[in-house]
Amino acid sequence: MNRFETNLRIPGPTSLPSAVREAGSRQMINHRGPEFAGMLERVISGLQGFYGTTNDIVLLTCAGSGGLEAAIVNTLSPGDRVLGVSIGAFGDRFAKIARVYGADVSKIDIEWGRAAEPDDLRRALEADNGYKAILLTLNETSTGVMNPIRELAEVARELAPDALILMDGVSALGAIPFEQDAWGIDIAVSGSQKSWMAAPGMAFLGVSERAWAAGTTARMPRFYLDIAEHRTAATTGQTPFTPALTVLFQLDVAMGLMLAEGADAIYARHAACAAATRAGLAALGFSLFADPARASGTVTCAWLPEDLDWKAFNTEMKRRKLVVAGGQGKLTGKVFRIGHLGTVTLDEIVACIGVIEESLLALGREITPGAGVAAAQRAGLEAIGAAPRVGAGA
Ligand SMILES: *Cc1c(COP(=O)(O)O)cnc(C)c1O
Repeated sequence: MNRFETNLRIPGPTSLPSAVREAGSRQMINHRGPEFAGMLERVISGLQGFYGTTNDIVLLTCAGSGGLEAAIVNTLSPGDRVLGVSIGAFGDRFAKIARVYGADVSKIDIEWGRAAEPDDLRRALEADNGYKAILLTLNETSTGVMNPIRELAEVARELAPDALILMDGVSALGAIPFEQDAWGIDIAVSGSQKSWMAAPGMAFLGVSERAWAAGTTARMPRFYLDIAEHRTAATTGQTPFTPALTVLFQLDVAMGLMLAEGADAIYARHAACAAATRAGLAALGFSLFADPARASGTVTCAWLPEDLDWKAFNTEMKRRKLVVAGGQGKLTGKVFRIGHLGTVTLDEIVACIGVIEESLLALGREITPGAGVAAAQRAGLEAIGAAPRVGAGA
């Protein structure tokens, strides 16, 4: 780790590779010219690969939440019945947006720390399947839980074949295998500042033909977020309004880095970092918040022990230039979270666990120096299949 720079280990915005940072300092260009059109085309075609879709992907200049709002207002009408499947703070937000625009929202509230299991959705849809849309979260950033999205979509398709599946994928798309078309996800939303290694400022929506069709009759009000306008503008290599060019410059470079690394290598790197984070924290005595079977590949949430004061702990970490995230909503002061998505490497996670170790030692906690680092290192290497094969030499 670099002592002159903050080590940002929050679940977005994620830190930027230097080439991406440099791209952010470029001079402006005409956003109605061929250079822009080429850039838009490259970014969209790169995104399509990671989304697993051949459909249009819409780039909006807004935060990820604006992308969620766009998914709602472009497909629904006031009074439409919507099922919000929430496993945490972001699932609550998605349902709230639908409610604000007048949808008739029913909610399944899964206990925080658990995923929505296919049977949870099956029970809800067997009782009532008259929904126009089902809202799902791919990765719940507030709890560090990843939903079995493919299985959930399967249940939704089987029991509520007419319902649109709208998915918040903001904190996981680009970091884990995903197949929008094959899994039948109607809208998949993500944001530039998470796995995509760019600054905040743009949201992406993968939109199925069914969702485009729903848009032709959807009556929720929309102007800036009207994705049909974006689709039309894209045919001439433009966006309807002035886009966040600086973010696009960065995305263009970041996408180049992602394509050069390759999707499989990116997914393996994320899996290794996730495994290392969990193992390192567990070895230091932390209880992990998520159901282990559904632990997130991009963010890990851990309970703060009763006798560990968050402020003091966080001060020690910040002193060592490590920035992690606290708890959100009702988990404030009870948990902390480590983001391991985007440009992150196993070395960085091992170093991060090392800083947590030093911080705990500074607070006088009884841990064995090196225990967390060793566990993280081993779990990470095992996950990428590079663990030393103990006893295999004979
Ligand atoms: C980060 C995030 C968002 C979007 O957050 P913004 O601050 O609006 O960009 C939405 N959903 C999830 C799951 C997220 O992690």
